[in-house]
Amino acid sequence: MQPHRTAIKARWTVTSDSPKLTVLDGATVVVDGDKIAAITHEEVTRADEFIQIDDGVLIPGFVNLHNHALNGPTLKGIVDDYDRTGTSGSLIYNLLMPLGDLSATDMPEQDIRAIFRLALLDMLKSGTTTMLDMWRPGHRIFLDVAREFGVRAYGAPYVLSSPPTGVNRIGQPTYGSADGSDSIANFKSIFNEYDEGPQGRIRVVLGPHGTDTCSAELLRRVRATADEMGVLITIHAAQSRAEVSAIETRYGMTPIEYLQSTGIVGPDVVASHCVYTSDQDLDILRDTGTSVASCPMTFARGGLTAPFQRFSDHGIRTGIGTDGYGFDYIEELRSAGLVSKLRMELSHIAPAAQLLRAGTESGASALGRDDLGRIQVGAKADLVAVDLGRAALQPIRDPIKNVIWYATASDVSTVMVDGRLLVRGGKPLGINEKDIVSAGADATYRLWERAERSGIRLDSASSPIQHQPYQMAEGHTHG
Ligand SMILES: [Zn+2]
Repeated sequence: MQPHRTAIKARWTVTSDSPKLTVLDGATVVVDGDKIAAITHEEVTRADEFIQIDDGVLIPGFVNLHNHALNGPTLKGIVDDYDRTGTSGSLIYNLLMPLGDLSATDMPEQDIRAIFRLALLDMLKSGTTTMLDMWRPGHRIFLDVAREFGVRAYGAPYVLSSPPTGVNRIGQPTYGSADGSDSIANFKSIFNEYDEGPQGRIRVVLGPHGTDTCSAELLRRVRATADEMGVLITIHAAQSRAEVSAIETRYGMTPIEYLQSTGIVGPDVVASHCVYTSDQDLDILRDTGTSVASCPMTFARGGLTAPFQRFSDHGIRTGIGTDGYGFDYIEELRSAGLVSKLRMELSHIAPAAQLLRAGTESGASALGRDDLGRIQVGAKADLVAVDLGRAALQPIRDPIKNVIWYATASDVSTVMVDGRLLVRGGKPLGINEKDIVSAGADATYRLWERAERSGIRLDSASSPIQHQPYQMAEGHTHG
């Protein structure tokens, strides 16, 4: 039997001819089954489905290299404008971690599912076709929802041995202790249940939470497990001053030196953030082939610049992640560029084409995939079309610049993963958007109520807003 053939003819198609991107005019991409079979200027007459993109550009699907899908809805309007003065790191240890714990231990399964559905709908519509997402083992439903939506997901259940318990009076994080072998056993059971192997869309990878929450012994076990099972590792590293000082006190090392001493460096490791790093730390990452996931908006929200360009200039393979507050991936790429320009005070660095490659090819390479993140014959058909017809996007001299500097997620018109059309005309196929949005919002309101009842403060003391009770969608009740 012949595989299903789709022919996509776009006004522009961005193909990957290393080391450059090429913009083709009026080409047709032929997709056979899950792969790109041809890229041609000749007329394609035989296909099961023809897609015409008149005023748009076809690009590879985005690879979100560091994310927490659950955090998108549950921290919306909470992390924004949060007062972080005085106690650096307190947002992570005082709010993010306890709210995450609560959502793993005290939230009904259907609510977790509803929130993941809302998050994945948002990501899918922004053109994210692959995501590397970290969560607590209790949130494994993420993988069911990713499967249901048809996106490509690398799920990383947390492995940790010293979970944060909050912050002390001077704003330093405090840590408890947990059995690290339990969390490796959890990882293995989730892996056995969900991982679809190298050709599958759903993968399960090792997610040691961070340098300060994992003992040296546990990290050595993570390395041994990764080598034995051939799975990727992803970890938070050098993301806050509090973390840096904890590792300095415990081991007399920087977080990156600590990773090296425990074997958590190498081409199979994605280290997220790496903001509080020296040039020597970056040498270690580069020389060991470790990838960095840079998440500029997370830090911009906190008043900090985390310039993507610093890592890529250092010769490190650098992808971009949203980290889970807003999922507009185009906006994240634009922020990566703007934050780099601001920090370096140079206008020509982090140009659009480099940002697009970071968000597609580099992210895919960091996942060990040379068949993703590029429009090339033989690559997987993970494709996105951005409509450039809107007034704000016209006229067009360079379609890549118009996407990166002027478009938003709502200009994404078509999304294909593994050769399957998931979004057409901006509308997700086979998904009831309205129901997903209201169920996801209601589940989040219930979590916020539970959090406030259990003493987690969702707003800074300085917040100028007095909150009213949450408005549930019609027919839903507070539970
Ligand atoms: Zn993170």
